[in-house]
Amino acid sequence: MLAIDGCYVATVDPAGTEHARGYVVLDGERIEATGPGPLPPGYAAAERVDGSGLLATPGLVNTHHHLYQWITRGYAVDDTLFGWLSALYPVWAGLDAELAYASAAANLGWLALTGCSTTSDHHYVFPAGRGDLLEATILVARKIGLRFHPGRGSMNLGRSSGGLPPDDVVERHDDILAATQAAIDRWHDPSPGAMTRIAVAPCSPFSVTAELMRDCAEMARRAGVRLHTHLAETLDEEEFCLRTYGRTPAQYAEDLGWLGPDVWLAHCVHLSAEAVARFAATGTGVAHCPTSNGRLGSGIAPVRALVAAGAPVGLGVDGAASNESGRMIDELHQGVLAARFAEGPLALSVRAALRLATMGGARCLGRDDELGSLEPGKLADIALWRVDGLAGAGVADPVCTLVLGAPSLERLWVHGRPVVADGELLTADARQLAAEAATASVRIGQARHDRGSWHPL
Ligand SMILES: [Zn+2]
Repeated sequence: MLAIDGCYVATVDPAGTEHARGYVVLDGERIEATGPGPLPPGYAAAERVDGSGLLATPGLVNTHHHLYQWITRGYAVDDTLFGWLSALYPVWAGLDAELAYASAAANLGWLALTGCSTTSDHHYVFPAGRGDLLEATILVARKIGLRFHPGRGSMNLGRSSGGLPPDDVVERHDDILAATQAAIDRWHDPSPGAMTRIAVAPCSPFSVTAELMRDCAEMARRAGVRLHTHLAETLDEEEFCLRTYGRTPAQYAEDLGWLGPDVWLAHCVHLSAEAVARFAATGTGVAHCPTSNGRLGSGIAPVRALVAAGAPVGLGVDGAASNESGRMIDELHQGVLAARFAEGPLALSVRAALRLATMGGARCLGRDDELGSLEPGKLADIALWRVDGLAGAGVADPVCTLVLGAPSLERLWVHGRPVVADGELLTADARQLAAEAATASVRIGQARHDRGSWHPL
């Protein structure tokens, strides 16, 4: 057993219980106890961690990401989503398993250092003959030690068929279904405490056919895995859906069986009041990505309405090509600011932002019985933040320091295992991850140059 003692504890339990000075006890991969005051004598034999000056929260849950994008940051920095995608598709066409590994390793290390204990990944670029990219990301997630929910993504609607991506980065419908089923069979772990769970994740309405969306939903439901895609991110997408299908993105998704308690959708910026009600009624989750939405000027999701209606809402950093900082903790801050810019000072509270980043994310991933709060019996995914340094000392409310201030991560446990200590990554050498990502970034940029698609951005 291990006991963190003398810290501020924000449990994010249903009552929002907090202890100004309390403890959290871990027993293996589970939380044994949490409470106010000094550590009870019954835990005297536990290994002790001095929590003074620290804030304990559940590990943060990242509900939308593209790990392969860490090595393609800094492109199309002043563009729309469609312009940015069109600049990046030719770069991503150069991906291979080795590049995906280097990119994911650095990105996962950075996520851990910013308080993330569980991350999803939405990988949808699988150039033919370049190795097993999904395997690469899963193996590196195990090395870094994060709980991992990779989506086997896909694109099959190339430019010649009316889609946005160039034809050389899309796959064939039947190949996608076979590869997705193989990913579920090989990697998906439905058991309690799982470290790896697969989702079925075709990319977006403008890069995937309706037939593939429908077939993916059927496959996921047969296999008992969750569904994820991008939806209603921009007005360009809404125009595409109205023009192509005569439906808004949310209507289109519902037509295809893509609303439900086993679905979570990234962005959902452009939702009508009717769509918000349908999301709530069906239990459809939303991965809210405020930094990425700001970077691409897409607009901001109606978070207040979604939360008020009872829909699951989590936070996501989104791929680092549209969020170069990639810091999970920043999404709480950006989420509060964006909501208040859009809808006034009461649109999203500081503690509601913490709840989105923990329990909300756990709900989106179907893990709210195991993750998202510090309660006995839940998995020991715990972040410990320094709130008494130069940045945080003197702030009256440590949760305010976490969300609106500049907290630094002191420690992170995932599944009861230490991943970060003293602010340093334990599971890999961060400098080596950075060097390998830099090399990979040069190589993938060069590959684009070699294919003759280079143009100044
Ligand atoms: Zn995305």
